[in-house]
Amino acid sequence: MNTPLAIWQRLRAGNRLVSVQSADQPVAAVFRCADARLTNEAVLGQAPGALLDISTWGHAVDAGVLGSLEYAVEILEVPLIVVLGHDDCPAMQSALKAWEHAELPGGSMRRVVEHALLSVVRRGTAADSVQSVAAAHVVETGVALAQRSPALSTRVDQRTCGIICATYASTDLRVRVHATIGAVDDHADPLAEVV
Ligand SMILES: [Zn+2]
Repeated sequence: MNTPLAIWQRLRAGNRLVSVQSADQPVAAVFRCADARLTNEAVLGQAPGALLDISTWGHAVDAGVLGSLEYAVEILEVPLIVVLGHDDCPAMQSALKAWEHAELPGGSMRRVVEHALLSVVRRGTAADSVQSVAAAHVVETGVALAQRSPALSTRVDQRTCGIICATYASTDLRVRVHATIGAVDDHADPLAEVV
């Protein structure tokens, strides 16, 4: 039974099996949706510890997120932030449901869904699928990071930090770039655009 104690015992037993590994310095920060089932390292093919993980539901931006990302770029000096959504996202499904049927969840989840709806309005894209809502929201999230953090925008302007706004498909884990901010324009990806 999934009682709080039973789950903690499972985690504690797992902890006793792990061996100490010296983690390398993160090479990038990944701001992702908290309901994604896979780790950033699993999606992007990196060793454990290679990516600084910041996650909130629907990658909603708050002061904790901005502080974490500023720590990443100012103290750890990572040159890249990836805003990573996913195409089977329950948060974006909630936003699509709100868009189509005016049904919003309660409590603080409502604010998260409202942010995703605002992203659709700002991008002016059709909210006709979870994927389209997710694409609009990763782009607007990347824009919001640069707008709300002078430390991030300064580095973007200096071209010492870039932001990639991307989603991945749960079927094949393929990452699609929807926008780039700063010195990370990838001409190999025709879907990318400079915001
Ligand atoms: Zn999600």
